[in-house]
Amino acid sequence: MTTNAKRTIAAVRADLAAKRVSARELVADSYARIERDNPRLNAFLALSPERAYAQADRIDQMVARGEELPPLAGLPLAVKDVLATRGIPTTCGSRILENYRPPYDATCIERLEQAGAVVLGKTNCDEFAMGSSNENSAYGPVRNPVAPDRVPGGSSGGSAAAVAGGLAVAALGTDTGGSVRQPGALCGIPALMPTYGRVSRYGLIAFASSLDRVGPLTASVADAAALLGVIAGHDPCDATSAAVPVPDYLAELGKPVAGLRIGIPREYFGEGMDAGVRERVDAAIAQLEKLGCRRVELEMPHTDYAIATYYLIATAEASSNLARYDGVRYGLRTPADSLAEMYRKTRGTGFGAEVKRRIMLGTYALSAGYYEAYYLKAQKVRSLIARDFQQAFEKADLIVTPTSPVTAFRLGERTADPLAMYLADIYTVTGSLAGVPGISVPCGNTSEGLPVGLQIFGPHFGEARVLRLAHAFEQASAAVA
Ligand code: GLN
Repeated sequence: MTTNAKRTIAAVRADLAAKRVSARELVADSYARIERDNPRLNAFLALSPERAYAQADRIDQMVARGEELPPLAGLPLAVKDVLATRGIPTTCGSRILENYRPPYDATCIERLEQAGAVVLGKTNCDEFAMGSSNENSAYGPVRNPVAPDRVPGGSSGGSAAAVAGGLAVAALGTDTGGSVRQPGALCGIPALMPTYGRVSRYGLIAFASSLDRVGPLTASVADAAALLGVIAGHDPCDATSAAVPVPDYLAELGKPVAGLRIGIPREYFGEGMDAGVRERVDAAIAQLEKLGCRRVELEMPHTDYAIATYYLIATAEASSNLARYDGVRYGLRTPADSLAEMYRKTRGTGFGAEVKRRIMLGTYALSAGYYEAYYLKAQKVRSLIARDFQQAFEKADLIVTPTSPVTAFRLGERTADPLAMYLADIYTVTGSLAGVPGISVPCGNTSEGLPVGLQIFGPHFGEARVLRLAHAFEQASAAVA
């Protein structure tokens, strides 16, 4: 196999410690793969070789001195282009930030580098993370490494493709309504959305601040646990990051899963799901029962309202957050005779169609006379959806569903119909609104060879349990395959 999709963090660290490879060679190898495959995949938008080699040299010096290596030593890491990286272009997949180089690093990146990770560069994504296919990027779509005529999912499509295609060993994405989990599912790799507040958002360029979260896309569930252990925890720079102790997620992985109650909500198994997805997810649930998990039937009655609720709240927050791109402070400025005209032209040429659609939807939902009918009502329904989860977790330890109703679709297949694109998020936005953690773990391929993801939700700050079940499932599936 030409991909290093199965290369894991532990393997990289062991190879380094045993001097079978140097950190410099690992970086060079990743860049060689990127040079070869990125023209086809379009997963990376910018590379940061100077910074990567400097970090690799630090790791190699530690090896030479015989020092204990940090947990992510030498890890070739890709970073979604919505996370601020000092001096390295950070575009959010938008023209409006085309030449923007942030003056600081996002907290999660700072922490990953301190733990030894090597930032290779920035990955493509839907513009401002708005999308489910990566086709809304101003810098062209990403191709799915598993099926190059198909989308990788979105909005963290570049991060998913970089890991699944073996260009990086792990990646950071962001998830507002499914953007880590869904591309993970469509590209066939584990992808974790932590609890809201578990990971600092400092340096994550805002889309919808009450929903945005940073999460890892990796080659294995253990790798997701390793990354989470580093990026989780309170950050004084983000008031919404929680001061909840960070468990040793890797140590938790080995604990038994027998006896765990897995809730199956009937609302996630209705019409609109591909037969191939259903088959793989049913088989996965049967597998979990074989591992000793107890199946519990659930009802989560407000699930039907999740898409409408999400697309009101997310667009409302986006319309406010994106007001800052006015041609004065950041990125693009299109000169004009008056200030108002400059704003209009800058935003008119800088934003793409989907971003404009969302700004308009969100502005409308927040406007006087409509606020109560739309935004306020959506906030109330959000509480009901959160209550569905709270009640479900009284009966079940974890909730198991498909990640996406469909497998990777063909490039261009859904671009003309925004509503059809929004419906791709039907199983992921619920957990986003409720603030709970969720993972997508691969559960095999359809007869067409397209990956299917199994989604596991846990209660707030229940990542250890989510990861434990995902890991047990991954190990059991590997034994079968
Ligand atoms: N696909 C969803 C949207 O377009 C989710 C995006 C995300 O999670 N960033 O809003």
